[in-house]
Amino acid sequence: MNKPREGSLALHWRILVGLAIGAIAGLICKQILGDNPSLKWFSENIANTIGQVFLRLIFMVIIPLVFCALTLGVAEIGDVRKLGRLGLITLLMTVLFSGASVLIGLGLANTLRPGASLSEESREKLRKEFIKDADDKINKAKNSKTVLSTILDVIPRNPLQEAVGALDGSSPGSGLLGVMFFSLCMGIALTTIGDKAKPVIAVLEGFYEAVMVIIGWAMNLAPFGVCGLVFYATTLLGVDIIWLLAGYVTAVLLGLCIHMFVVYSLAVWLIAKRNPIQFFKDILEVLLTAFGTSSSSATLPTSIRVVDQNLGIDKRIGHFVLTIGSTANQNGTALYEGLTVLFLAQVFGQDLGLSQQLIVVFLSMLAGIGTAGVPGGSLPLVVLVLQSIGVPAEGIAIIMGVDRLLDMSRTTVNVCGDIAVAACVDAIENKRS
Ligand code: ASP
Repeated sequence: MNKPREGSLALHWRILVGLAIGAIAGLICKQILGDNPSLKWFSENIANTIGQVFLRLIFMVIIPLVFCALTLGVAEIGDVRKLGRLGLITLLMTVLFSGASVLIGLGLANTLRPGASLSEESREKLRKEFIKDADDKINKAKNSKTVLSTILDVIPRNPLQEAVGALDGSSPGSGLLGVMFFSLCMGIALTTIGDKAKPVIAVLEGFYEAVMVIIGWAMNLAPFGVCGLVFYATTLLGVDIIWLLAGYVTAVLLGLCIHMFVVYSLAVWLIAKRNPIQFFKDILEVLLTAFGTSSSSATLPTSIRVVDQNLGIDKRIGHFVLTIGSTANQNGTALYEGLTVLFLAQVFGQDLGLSQQLIVVFLSMLAGIGTAGVPGGSLPLVVLVLQSIGVPAEGIAIIMGVDRLLDMSRTTVNVCGDIAVAACVDAIENKRS
């Protein structure tokens, strides 16, 4: 998604430079000019517009991305099922690990409440800027539906109508969730019609690739977009935004550390019957590669080599689990998505009820499965989850500037999770034989 051009600075550095320029220029302007109308005009009409071009390019591809990624994803899992026991155990471990990761993320968001540190004055400003019909949306979010009607709404009467209204919250049912349900059904159905499914899958694969190219274009605009968005946010909120982001980054990193060093260590120790410290030592090279590239897919060759050489996992199991896992088992991403959605809801003063939080858990787990293993692969899906529960998706602008550090960290957890699953599945299978 973000291959650096020959001779140019790698994209993540350009994004960081954009972030630094936007933040410093914004803070200086805010300090010197205060609430000056010309600064407000520039910030809203120039800086924010540049940021919106970048964001809209991402928004634009969400519906096709969701449909193609999920339909194809399930069609692949259909094949996995044919592999029988191995596929099932892998699927079970994936669901268990991602469930645990999302719960850690939501637990931290609910206890640390990183988004609640914002002053009431700043929150009001944000609400006015990002949510045009603020009270309306907040009331809608507060009047959350009952668990039963939420579940029923997942089945769309008309998936096209759900798709049309999905991004502005005007769909009659559950919006993107309904589109996702339809995509899952299509994927399952495709696995049952044999060769007739092949042309449909080929078209969807082509569409998916094209969507990825458009996201790549958007990411190339990211340094300018981030600069504009951060300038806009800092002139709006001043230093408040720095504290807010520091709390958010701390919460995400803490969650990732807990998942990696507690959950994986326990799984490796209890299920795979290995010494967790030795396990982390053996895979250090993979972890560093994942941290450096921010891409599970780019790390796959290193993971396969290290798992073969250092862990001695059965090749048939290792290769299968790691390949599927590099796109389908992204626990770090799932944790990050759940925490981010709750954080932004707190920032906008929306307290999500139990049924909405359950939807976040479910969507974040699905998003972890549907995310491409490339840098920034989860951003469109964060927008998706935000939209689905009525938190303004434009809020993603607030966190874009710090995303690279979090991307490097969550990718490390994603890849570590794939290897932990491989080690567990290997132990379970070998005990049987
Ligand atoms: N960069 C992540 C990965 O490749 C995906 C994401 O969370 O953006 O695993």
